[in-house]
Amino acid sequence: MAQKIFFTPGPAQLYPTFEQHLAVAVREQLGSISHRSKQFRSLYQHADEQLRALLDVPASHAILFTGSATEVWERAIQNGAGRETFHLVNGSFSKRFYEFSAELGRTAHRVEAPFGEGFDVDQLDIPPSVELVCLTHNETSAGVSLPSAQIHALKARYPEALFVVDMVSSAPYPALDYGLVDSAFFSVQKGFGLPAGLGVWIVNEKFLAKAEALKAAGGYIGTHHSLPSLWKNAKNFETPATPNVLGIYLLGQVAADLNRVGAAAIRRQTQERAVQLYKAIAASEGLEVFVRTPDHRSATVLVAGTRGSAPALIEKWKGQNLVVGSGYGSYKEKQIRIANFPANTDEEIAQLLTAIGQA
Ligand SMILES: *Cc1c(COP(=O)(O)O)cnc(C)c1O
Repeated sequence: MAQKIFFTPGPAQLYPTFEQHLAVAVREQLGSISHRSKQFRSLYQHADEQLRALLDVPASHAILFTGSATEVWERAIQNGAGRETFHLVNGSFSKRFYEFSAELGRTAHRVEAPFGEGFDVDQLDIPPSVELVCLTHNETSAGVSLPSAQIHALKARYPEALFVVDMVSSAPYPALDYGLVDSAFFSVQKGFGLPAGLGVWIVNEKFLAKAEALKAAGGYIGTHHSLPSLWKNAKNFETPATPNVLGIYLLGQVAADLNRVGAAAIRRQTQERAVQLYKAIAASEGLEVFVRTPDHRSATVLVAGTRGSAPALIEKWKGQNLVVGSGYGSYKEKQIRIANFPANTDEEIAQLLTAIGQA
């Protein structure tokens, strides 16, 4: 049977070198090595170095591994705020992040935008009592992005608060300035083109100091995956618990592949492909661009409204081995979502553009 080509927003198309890296991992018996061994430490160190180079992460920030990005929502709130968080909510993922804060007993402030719309950060007013500002670079459900420049501008107005950025469905695309951004995180089954089961948490010393202060004041910041515990282990390229060794190895290898292409080239390619895809959607009879404001349109998860039934179009494309995502939640009948991640080749994008033209 012909191989399917995935344009789903996650799990997504696997990076073209995945199979070859997996074969090496099997040959080297990485499934059986100790996570307290020198071999594991050098594997963690390699992933750390490659991610630092790719995302331009300075020495002030640690790179930590968790079970998922969902876990980081919880860890960031537990360790970054004793009382109050602030959230920009414009879809299911940013909403869930917000809900976690309330579930953890914090006072969670929120500014909401309608589904399909973004924010004007100049208009935002964040109370001075807020300890942690939670932002979503790319709202996967709605295909709306909060551009890096906007995140940086907001942080410049509120330098005291900790800022954490969910970049799960856009990394490695956003060029975040870690001189401003205290923390950011992602999981590997989206833009990195790997099987799910690994979260990556980038976090700075200021965040660590906050976690230590919360703990010293008697607050609960978690057990093995508290920030101080993750941090102390990471200093030695180790993890508190037995981690996803295979996932960390594969991430290091794919990050190295992406570095060979270069972060700037990947960003340029993502932008160019997004322009082509939006143009094709706008020109097609059966589809329309969902997000109205061009500046709010995501370059990595594109949402299109369908004139006819979205599930029928998805089925039709499946017959051509092209797999796109369904609309989120109640938008299932009327929308499709198309991921634009680095794992897809030019030829695959060309096939998708042809299909869009015929929709
Ligand atoms: C997918 C996604 C998550 C959750 O990631 P998991 O790996 O399932 O924990 C969080 N935030 C955004 C924006 C996402 O797209």
